[in-house]
Amino acid sequence: MSPHTHTDVEAPLPWHQAGWEILRQARAVGRLSHALLVTGPPGVGKRRLVAALSRSLLCAHPDERGLACGRCRECELCAAGTHPDYLEIGPDPESKSDEIKVDAIRRLTASDALTAHRGGHKIIVLDPAQNMNLNAANSLLKTLEEPSPDTLLCLVCEQPNRLPATVRSRCQELRVPVPPESQALEWLRAYTDSPDVEILLRLAYGAPLRALTLVEEDRLPQRTRAFTGFVAVASGARDPVAEAAAWNEHEPAVLLDWLSGWVSDLLRLASGHPAPRLINRDRIEELRGLAERLDPRAGHRYLMQLFKARTQEQGTINRLLLYESLLVQGRRIFRLRAPSLGQG
Ligand SMILES: [Zn+2]
Repeated sequence: MSPHTHTDVEAPLPWHQAGWEILRQARAVGRLSHALLVTGPPGVGKRRLVAALSRSLLCAHPDERGLACGRCRECELCAAGTHPDYLEIGPDPESKSDEIKVDAIRRLTASDALTAHRGGHKIIVLDPAQNMNLNAANSLLKTLEEPSPDTLLCLVCEQPNRLPATVRSRCQELRVPVPPESQALEWLRAYTDSPDVEILLRLAYGAPLRALTLVEEDRLPQRTRAFTGFVAVASGARDPVAEAAAWNEHEPAVLLDWLSGWVSDLLRLASGHPAPRLINRDRIEELRGLAERLDPRAGHRYLMQLFKARTQEQGTINRLLLYESLLVQGRRIFRLRAPSLGQG
């Protein structure tokens, strides 16, 4: 057998070090919180950090850095996904709703659910925590008020402001940061030889795991095709209805993210800032051309509309109608020609 190296889930990511150190020290002096709220934007590795912590707490022989050994019986059970003292709670996959309901929390509070079967820690991961409905959150509060010794509750949450303040205040918050660009690029380059890592990282708002997903899903050429269509519609060269049909292959979450990125960049360019930090830096020529014709007030209103659409329940919208409407309205944020040419 080759010398042991830590697997991906056993070790925290490079930009987790500060948070990991806080946890390690708290644990060393027996002051690890009973409820941890792990926050941060999508794609920074919140779940990876929680997995590394869980494995480390369950491991019989963690090393001096606090990492799971990867070899003991506890580690084997974790790797197999069958450790009886590790429990994940999320939305019911059978249900159409993505809410975490009170039944799931009640199972947690049932008499023996909080007791460790193997004599060590008990880890309960609630993910995504903001999806708890009000009843579930109220039920969880009871658990938080009477913590069982050796039980760690980990709430994974991208939108902590959607949690009731009563829940949030009873947790220790650990914010997973977006790493510095150089560190993120170094990490990314170990996983992909894509020549576009810089632009991918930008499209992922600096979040390395999100950027890696974009590589794996081949999103860059898809986004460029959709952008080219948007430019053609904005220039009157393409029918919005035809372009909406081409967009229809993309999920609204993906498309709304792209579209709001383009409009944000246009607003940045139109603001006259000498060196705007663009998301879509690789499309700067087309964006510059469009920005000359942008009506900034209409652009702002449109961007707000896009943000609102992003928060709407995705399952209930007709995708094709949404895209048609967005393209028809998107075309209207541009003047027909550059203002310097006058009204005639
Ligand atoms: Zn171990």
